[in-house]
Amino acid sequence: MENKKVISIVVPCYNEQEVLPMFYEELNKVMNELENVELELILVNDGSRDNTLKEFKELANKDERVKYISFSRNFGKEAAMFAGLEATTGDYVAIMDADLQDPPKLLLEMYDILENSDYDCVGTRRVTRKGEPKIRSLFAKMFYKLMKKISKMDIVDGARDFRLMTRQMTDAIISMQEYNRFSKGIFTWVGFKTKWLEYENVERAAGKSKWSFWKLFIYSLDGITAFSTFPLVISAILGMLFCLLAFIMILVIVFKTIAFGEPVSGWPSTVCAILFVGGVQLFCTGIIGQYLAKTYLEVKKRPIFIVKETNIN
Ligand code: UDP
Ligand code: MG
Repeated sequence: MENKKVISIVVPCYNEQEVLPMFYEELNKVMNELENVELELILVNDGSRDNTLKEFKELANKDERVKYISFSRNFGKEAAMFAGLEATTGDYVAIMDADLQDPPKLLLEMYDILENSDYDCVGTRRVTRKGEPKIRSLFAKMFYKLMKKISKMDIVDGARDFRLMTRQMTDAIISMQEYNRFSKGIFTWVGFKTKWLEYENVERAAGKSKWSFWKLFIYSLDGITAFSTFPLVISAILGMLFCLLAFIMILVIVFKTIAFGEPVSGWPSTVCAILFVGGVQLFCTGIIGQYLAKTYLEVKKRPIFIVKETNIN
């Protein structure tokens, strides 16, 4: 009895009333196959507008292994995952989506690997993106390529948040209390040995995706500014290039004036140069502004989430 391992499963939920019962049933089936393992299910309600919280309460009533945390508003998936992780007590901790896009049966293999090898984490990556809008896949690919180049961190293409990890790694992740959370970067940043399982994309069991293209785009910018300062270098490089250009132009103009006098012409080229340099300056100020804004939010030390209701004491 004593050496029973506990697996905590964190599930961030935003408007997931349709899939929750299905998810619970599937998960239960899988967990029953694991001997000597106890489940701790931590459901996080990220300010849903539907009956997600009611579903939580029903599940908690009939199953005492179910714990829930309900936010006062929508704080985003990152905040929900963080809240869930903080509440876990298990020896192993998993994060998974409620929509069954992360197949629960992979948990069996993940558990087996963690138990019988020296890996600290088993992550999953999708090798296909079938069923997803083409443009979204294209931008995702570009994002991972860019991230690899500018952040020194190898964030695996197609990596999902779905993973099972040891207590030690979970504690390392919780110790990162930053406000601008980008989990894919955080998981990589803390280190530890990760094994990747590959699987084909599965479409959502019910309900709708909560991510629009625009939301994902903004999220990717968060990822870049959270884990790379390379964009700041861009402005410095552009600045230097323009100084050099200006210097050459001055020499050319001085010599031209000495040799050929000073005819008044060429205002279109002047205006073009002014506009162009102005644009570059605004762009660079924008980059610096992004970092300043992030720093501003970190410095405020606002809580990452606010709990309204929970059955965890
Ligand atoms: N989610 C969340 N808060 C949000 C958006 C999403 O907790 O603001 C949860 C959502 O309920 C789901 C998971 O994050 O369990 C992944 O969301 P979704 O399936 O919509 O994303 P996709 O699989 O399309 O990338
Ligand atoms: Mg999904």
